Amino acid sequence: MEKIVILTGAGISAESGLSTFRDEGGLWAQHRIEDVATPEGFARNPALVQGFYNARRVQAAGVHPNAAHKALARLQQDWPGEVMIVTQNVDSLHEAGGARGVIHMHGTLAGALCSACGHRWTAPPEMAVGEPCPACAQPTARPDVVWFGEMPYCMDEIYDHLASASLFAAIGTSGQVYPAAAFVHEAREAGARTVEINLEPTLGASGFDERVVGKATQTVPRWVDQLLARRS
Ligand code: NAD
Ligand code: ZN
Repeated sequence: MEKIVILTGAGISAESGLSTFRDEGGLWAQHRIEDVATPEGFARNPALVQGFYNARRVQAAGVHPNAAHKALARLQQDWPGEVMIVTQNVDSLHEAGGARGVIHMHGTLAGALCSACGHRWTAPPEMAVGEPCPACAQPTARPDVVWFGEMPYCMDEIYDHLASASLFAAIGTSGQVYPAAAFVHEAREAGARTVEINLEPTLGASGFDERVVGKATQTVPRWVDQLLARRS
């Protein structure tokens, strides 16, 4: 049965009210990546970094899944083959929209990680600097998100999924951050048909077989309807 692998990025959550990385006025616009999204930034100023992720966690707790998240969950339910969702997003809107088995390759705001022993637990709404790890008691708690310069999670699993995909879709991602930006090439090599669904064609758009341009809440439900109609 045909397998679909879907990569999502900040654009799918934009209409839920979470700013993308390039949005003016968003949380990202007020901070430099080096300060808030690198291990070096955290070592230099842990309070700034925890504060940044605390603010994102509060923001993410107050938003709801949109029609695009829900449409992907519907695809998972109604498609006769496997539908694997891999997201670069650290929010939980895919799950809130009903999706199952989502791979969070850049981690999640809902998680805390001990940088000393690797223990993981549910993050409190506000993480404090020097908060002790429940497993080893060291003051080394950090948000369980992947920073620039760190290895994204579950890469072997993701490459296995790409190698067996019949259809690959990239939704709401600018395709500027590797390794996710190269997934389309992996999928193509494996023989998958590829589609980019984005507000505007990205720099890598020509690497896809098909492009759908528009807002995710409109394009994704329509795309899902078309896929499901073709099957029945
Ligand atoms: P991105 O912000 O780089 O790209 C978002 C994409 O979504 C854009 O191409 C935009 O045109 C599109 N988009 C916006 N609104 C949309 C809508 N309503 N419907 C459909 N598409 C819409 O986000 P990304 O691609 O997820 O970034 C990948 C990863 O890179 C992130 O997980 C993040 O960790 C990291 N990143 C961080 C920064 C930063 O400034 N810190 C910058 C780039 C990437
Ligand atoms: Zn620990």
